[in-house]
Amino acid sequence: MKTEYDYVDENFRRINFNVNEAKERYGRSDEYIEIMAVTKTIAPEVINHAITSCGIKTLGENRVQEYMSKKDLYKPASVHFIGQLQTNKVKYIIDSVDMIQSVDSLKLASEINRHALKMNKIQDVLVEVNIAGEEAKGGISPDELTDMLYEIGTYQNISVKGLMTVPPAVDSEKFLYKMQNLYIDISEKKIDNINMSFLSMGMSGDYELAVKYGSNILRIGSALFGARVYK
Ligand SMILES: *Cc1c(COP(=O)(O)O)cnc(C)c1O
Repeated sequence: MKTEYDYVDENFRRINFNVNEAKERYGRSDEYIEIMAVTKTIAPEVINHAITSCGIKTLGENRVQEYMSKKDLYKPASVHFIGQLQTNKVKYIIDSVDMIQSVDSLKLASEINRHALKMNKIQDVLVEVNIAGEEAKGGISPDELTDMLYEIGTYQNISVKGLMTVPPAVDSEKFLYKMQNLYIDISEKKIDNINMSFLSMGMSGDYELAVKYGSNILRIGSALFGARVYK
């Protein structure tokens, strides 16, 4: 009988195949595109299997509390925080995450900066953009992004490495395209202390399209681990 681990292996092979095919189709064969495993609700043993068997190198964490309860059980991997982060929770994660992808306000950025300074760390972050202007979602509006980046660029202990977005499931392609244009526009502005190295977009339902529109971090949950019991 197949185990849960066998399914993860099969899922990973399929995702990897699809990503490679999309890279070829869209002329990106020579580029490195990270396949991140999004871990919410998934048991540490299963996540560790994805690390050791599938070669997953980066984990995406959504919830501070869940992450705190699981992190010591993980095999070595890079960890990115990708969920909405309250300012009063920054202190719990700052010592162990390699990247915070969900920076969406100056208030949060300045809190990260303050804690990073105390720890003598330069914290890598992505700025999350609410590309479709959805009320229920986190992210800074595209109109406010440039001003925000000029300001964050002055923070000594934060290094902005790119942008992240969670587009709507419906009409995702239109918003992936918009996001790529925004990313290119910002890159061309060459703002001090702001790097555009990473564009994080594409989830289980749209990762091949995200390859088309320039993403280099695909955040994959359910296509790898199966449907979640709660979201
Ligand atoms: C849950 C989640 C994902 C992965 O979603 P799937 O559709 O299961 O692949 C990606 N990014 C964020 C921010 C998430 O919360």
